[in-house]
Amino acid sequence: MTPTPDTHFDPDAVHAKYAEERAKRLTESRGVIHDLTLDSDDPLKAYLADPHTPFVERAPIKDDCEVAVIGAGIGGVVTCAKLRDAGIDDVRLIDKAGGIGGTWYWNRYPGVMCDVESYIYMPMLEEMGYIPTTKYAFGEEIRLHLDSIGEKYGFKDHALFHTGVVKSEWDEGETRWIVHTDRGDEIHARWLVVSPGILNLVKIPVIPGMEEFEGKAFHSGRWDWEYTGGHPDGNKGNMTNLADKVVAVIGTGASAVQILPPLAESAEHVYVFQRTPSAIGVRDNRSTPDDFERELQPGWQRERMENFTAVLLGHDVERNLVDDAWIYMAKVANPTIDPTMSMDEIARAAEEFDYEVMELHRKRIEELVKNPAIAESLKPYYRYLCKRPLFHDEYYDAFNRDNVTLVDCPGGVTQVTKHGVVANDQQYEVDCIVYATGFEAEVTPFYRRAGHPIIGRGGVALADKWKDGPRTYLGVFTRGFPNLFLMPSPGMQSTISVNFTHILTEGAEFIAGAIGLLEAKGVRIADVREDAEDDWVQQIVDGYADRSEFMAACTPSRLNFEGDPSAANPLSGTYGGGYGDVFGWRDLLREWRERGDFAGLELDEPYVES
Ligand code: NDP
Repeated sequence: MTPTPDTHFDPDAVHAKYAEERAKRLTESRGVIHDLTLDSDDPLKAYLADPHTPFVERAPIKDDCEVAVIGAGIGGVVTCAKLRDAGIDDVRLIDKAGGIGGTWYWNRYPGVMCDVESYIYMPMLEEMGYIPTTKYAFGEEIRLHLDSIGEKYGFKDHALFHTGVVKSEWDEGETRWIVHTDRGDEIHARWLVVSPGILNLVKIPVIPGMEEFEGKAFHSGRWDWEYTGGHPDGNKGNMTNLADKVVAVIGTGASAVQILPPLAESAEHVYVFQRTPSAIGVRDNRSTPDDFERELQPGWQRERMENFTAVLLGHDVERNLVDDAWIYMAKVANPTIDPTMSMDEIARAAEEFDYEVMELHRKRIEELVKNPAIAESLKPYYRYLCKRPLFHDEYYDAFNRDNVTLVDCPGGVTQVTKHGVVANDQQYEVDCIVYATGFEAEVTPFYRRAGHPIIGRGGVALADKWKDGPRTYLGVFTRGFPNLFLMPSPGMQSTISVNFTHILTEGAEFIAGAIGLLEAKGVRIADVREDAEDDWVQQIVDGYADRSEFMAACTPSRLNFEGDPSAANPLSGTYGGGYGDVFGWRDLLREWRERGDFAGLELDEPYVES
């Protein structure tokens, strides 16, 4: 896909069209979701049950360990492995899921795959001596890889699965964290790592009548293979139980786009309820070439990760090693700036390029979808970075099938009845509803994603300390919560990358390395110095890039708080502003460890109530 220079860009017409499409989607019910967190008594909490692993009763555990790690996704798994590398074996991994994998444990829907290249997304490939089978890995390969890290590094057998943390509390007398779980466990730990991920809170919209539906309904993150038949096997439609079933898919985001092709091959009929069309670029997945490994030098994976991040940040690189369609995001986010141009001219050139990229996506739909009216409904009309770009090669073709119907409903699904789904005042009778309605994701505060109260010195809850926004040091520590490490993630004063594994790997290495240094020095309590935290927070606020004007014109999505970008908070910014200075942040973390001077921390200082 290459933008054509002859694309005609008429700013007024484009603004009017984008505003018109935006207005259709700014409904009052938008963004109203079920509260499925710990304290809520919402009946839809039943949707969170684990369909993948049977629950096995066990006696509560009272235990003392060096490190407790909450969250068995990529961040937690890599941290445990790096702790082992640092000689720290007494580690207890805890997760609500029935096994290792985090988002890849839960998301086993048909067609699930990662749209970031496997060679940079799947962590620790060199350490594990593993080369992924395809350029973009299916979910099962990622999950099994993470599981094999747990096996190889020996922390899986000791982990507590199907165990939800209900409270983590710092005990000043004991100088330990005490982690309480929903199975009555009490885990005492010198160091606590909280790594909840960004896709752990299932988002289900409030739609009147949902509880009355008499068929089968589940969220895409809890695919019920027993009901559908089949098993996660790449893109294959093998769900034999659906041959006589009509299925509704609500949502057309990253998950739905992957679900539709195999689902359409299996089900009698599929209705796809689309509120906002996604911009879906070319995927071009392929098998790993036989000679892929031959050229690789030690350190290749980190080099490739850094190369991808550099490309996405608009840095000059000798060669784009990953070389895929994420390049459009890189180019749109980092427009070429001619120093002779005025600010207005730069903005206009950037917008024109953005328009060309979106036209490219719209033309792709015209080429792939035979029915022009359906093709038109599938076209995204907004600027490229208003929503997360997607990539898929089979999604559009599914709309050429007789057993797939697109229900274009910019106002969303308005009701669920005993027998089906209502949109545009019409009821569609279905046997099964798949809520592919996403996750709370990156704009949800960390303390909510953590899923349980984290109580620091003087009984202060992290939720209270951060009620006006995060306050960290290095995006990892927070004052008043000694010996606590927060896995860096978006909105928490570290940095962002499309390849979240890159950020998590840097975070995990820092956390494991810091714990190793603190243990070696015999430190019992490590808290953040007040001035260090104040300085870090000030740097974040000073570097904050206000994008609210851009976001205000965007189609509503979670990225602009469903159409209200004024909710954005400078405290949730990144180190270096914008997507963040990933390499500057990486260097700070590495230098901190190399110096070994514990800069910014106060060690073994007694707590004085203020
Ligand atoms: P998304 O948030 O991307 O999509 C949710 C979908 O549900 C949207 O299309 C949304 O519409 C729609 N929706 C929500 N409520 C309603 C309603 N009441 N009526 C009709 N439609 C509704 O969630 P996903 O699970 O698809 O993805 C979440 C994130 O997970 C992605 O952004 C990505 O970060 C990650 N992901 C990554 C993958 C990868 O390959 N790396 C694969 C899958 C997920 P609207 O667009 O209007 O809000």
